[in-house]
Amino acid sequence: MSYKKIFLKSGKDQSLKRFHPWVFSGAIARAEGNPEEGEVVEVYTAEKTFIAIGHAQIGSIAIRVLSFEQEAIDHQFWVKRLKAAFELRKTLGLVTGEQNNAYRLVHGEGDNLSGLIVDVYAGTAVMQAHSPGMHFARYEVAKAMKEVMGDDLLNIYYKSETTLPYKAELGQENGFLLGGHAEPIAVENGLKFHADWLKGQKTGFFVDQRDNRSLLEKYSAGKSVLNMFCYTGGFSFYAMRGNAKLVHSVDSSGKAIELTNKNVELNFPGDPRHEAFAVDAFKFLDNMGDNYDLIILDPPAFAKHKDVLRNALQGYQKLNAKAFRKIKPGGILFTFSCSQVVSKDNFRLAVFSAAAQSGRKVRILHQLTQPADHPINIYHPEGEYLKGLVLYVE
Ligand code: SAH
Repeated sequence: MSYKKIFLKSGKDQSLKRFHPWVFSGAIARAEGNPEEGEVVEVYTAEKTFIAIGHAQIGSIAIRVLSFEQEAIDHQFWVKRLKAAFELRKTLGLVTGEQNNAYRLVHGEGDNLSGLIVDVYAGTAVMQAHSPGMHFARYEVAKAMKEVMGDDLLNIYYKSETTLPYKAELGQENGFLLGGHAEPIAVENGLKFHADWLKGQKTGFFVDQRDNRSLLEKYSAGKSVLNMFCYTGGFSFYAMRGNAKLVHSVDSSGKAIELTNKNVELNFPGDPRHEAFAVDAFKFLDNMGDNYDLIILDPPAFAKHKDVLRNALQGYQKLNAKAFRKIKPGGILFTFSCSQVVSKDNFRLAVFSAAAQSGRKVRILHQLTQPADHPINIYHPEGEYLKGLVLYVE
């Protein structure tokens, strides 16, 4: 197999030598043979030494590296990568069993597959391409995934309508690449939820909060809990299993509230401790009383790009300040940011400013991050996107 070649400018190979998986457009001197969007290309240094192979794309990230070895990107390659990903999830004990069958199988760069995200819910893989290259490779990836997972994989649902750049006009589509009759209920740590990949955001359910929900459960006994930005209600039903006194779930989306109610009903039918409200978070926080002892703030990414970072940090500060003002003395705040461009330090600073504004005594009990099935490639620190703090507020 021969691939078209890209040559870097002199001295622009440093980050690839450190195995960082992106090539920025500014680093490229010239391309041989006019590679197309999504095509597999080989990358060479200015000295004409092979250094990487990856998917080309138009934009500031010009190449997403698939391998630093000179190898073919063929069936064997996809099998090798997906096998490594699957073995890790098996080691983590997430794959089968009555307690858990929901996990992230592929976490982009964290699994050396830049541009690909795959979540699995009860044997159904929900696959998202974030790059044209992965979009073109979708059938090959699906075939390799089935070969690697065997009976552990029953369906593959491809969902890339919202993750691929529209400009690229790739014929984005959502639909099954394998199977079609999917079990709609999955299990996380023994709790059930409807995996709604058809209508839900992203791949349908955020498995990245699994460990943090478990921690919350331990703090819930006897508490009045407010789950702000509840989406599918994950934190809410963990709090209920942890014997919370009452749980209020809030989300501005009516669909999210419907899902939350459905999921709570699935685990705790007819339980009067839970109530859900379709209201804007800021409004709810302004109007609520001061009777919550445990508050979860898990907002959507406030910053999707570097240029809006300042606004995002102000957003986190404003939001957290409202919670600090209202939380009961001795209360516990679980506060998160899932913006990749907001660093751990920046997030902590925003929360610090919010705490100072409220004048309350605040102590950090836990510093949280994403779970092991969202691994961080050590050469791609940008992959660490989820940050959380558990705070004790006097
Ligand atoms: N905590 C959830 C994930 C939250 S995703 C979990 O564990 O799965 C972010 C959610 O915030 C989405 O459901 C979105 O509808 C909601 N949201 C966005 N803006 C909001 C606002 N201003 N007020 C309330 N909810 C909002």
